[in-house]
Amino acid sequence: MTKKHIKDLKLNNKTVLVRVDFNVPLDENGNVANDKRIKAALPTIDYLIENEAKVILMSHLGRPKGERKQELSLKPVAEKLSEIMGKDIKFVNDCIGSEVETAVGKMQAGDIILLENTRFYAGEKKNDPDFARELAKPAELFVNDAFGTAHRKHASNVGVASILPSAMGFLIENELKYLRDSLTHPQKPFTAIFGGAKVSGKIELLERILEKADNLLIGGAMMFTFIRAMGYETGKSLVEEDKIDMAKNVMKLAEEKNVQLVIPEDTIIAKEPEKDAEIKTVSIEDIPQDWMGLDIGEKTIQKYKDVIADSKTIVWNGPMGMFEIDKFAKGTNEIAEILAESDATTIIGGGDSAAAIEKIELQDKFTHISTGGGASLEMLAGNELPGISIIPDA
Ligand code: ADP
Ligand code: MG
Repeated sequence: MTKKHIKDLKLNNKTVLVRVDFNVPLDENGNVANDKRIKAALPTIDYLIENEAKVILMSHLGRPKGERKQELSLKPVAEKLSEIMGKDIKFVNDCIGSEVETAVGKMQAGDIILLENTRFYAGEKKNDPDFARELAKPAELFVNDAFGTAHRKHASNVGVASILPSAMGFLIENELKYLRDSLTHPQKPFTAIFGGAKVSGKIELLERILEKADNLLIGGAMMFTFIRAMGYETGKSLVEEDKIDMAKNVMKLAEEKNVQLVIPEDTIIAKEPEKDAEIKTVSIEDIPQDWMGLDIGEKTIQKYKDVIADSKTIVWNGPMGMFEIDKFAKGTNEIAEILAESDATTIIGGGDSAAAIEKIELQDKFTHISTGGGASLEMLAGNELPGISIIPDA
């Protein structure tokens, strides 16, 4: 079922409240350090302006825990948006109340205002109905375009959508197109690559993906839980002891479903995860007691390249190693490069995976890089996102 889309709304002269994801990183001077998320909201904002709506933008930023924290103000974001759009964006020092009403009262069609951090109020994360009503009050329509929080049931997405006539924006539409639709009937062979820090958050996802994938490649810290499940020692590598059985289950399911599950053959190890640490490559059966695995090894990279070369659709979540340290970034970088060169449909989910790709400036070479971390994983696992479910069907 398709959800109501911004294009289904009559916008002319209407006051439209828009939930965007402006949860951007700030630098030590409080300026926007990366404007990717701001730019990702532009198609929706531009469309609203072209159609002569009055646009009220709202977002959360960081974790102020229900209190006003000046260092988590959205003011610098308003300045950045102004600069990007070459247009005056009025910043309002609150997200509800008289200050908002006054500002909205002065708006003309085509104007944009940005409200203060919704998480300055405890009602936001509790999806408090009174707070949601106050947010909704100055507006006639609601558009949700914050994919990054769509897996949360908060007042600024789910709450207001249950009050105002609502639709999704272009960013959410695009995320659905790739993370859901293109994976419903993927072009085969379909390969999933999973890495990152924890198995625990991703086990459900691994099980779901096994129903569709032809190949499942494992890397990152999660490989060591699998290596333990195979019966080998892993030294000081990151292992989730209580997930070893789940890893065994994934191995069993893969066999039953005829999915090629590939666990690395070799790993780059060090005694400490540090940039000047001594490193060596060992076979996964030979990880010494006081060493830890921090990247996939060369043989594994070659094997993964061969599988990727034969694939038509590839989903990747989670770095192959501790890519923040150059010594342990080779696996991640080489996989990123081979995907970037591939003609296959390449879809990336996960905040750190996206960061790893940006670090080597390959972000334009993929079919789709999701703007949502947790939300993209939920979507890939086939779960409904409350922020999207609440939007009425078209
Ligand atoms: P994503 O955000 O893409 O979903 P995760 O958050 O699951 O990815 O994992 C990213 C983190 O995993 C990175 O900070 C990286 O350093 C870490 N990581 C990857 N491989 C290892 C490893 N072998 N040991 C420790 N940490 C690792
Ligand atoms: Mg992460």
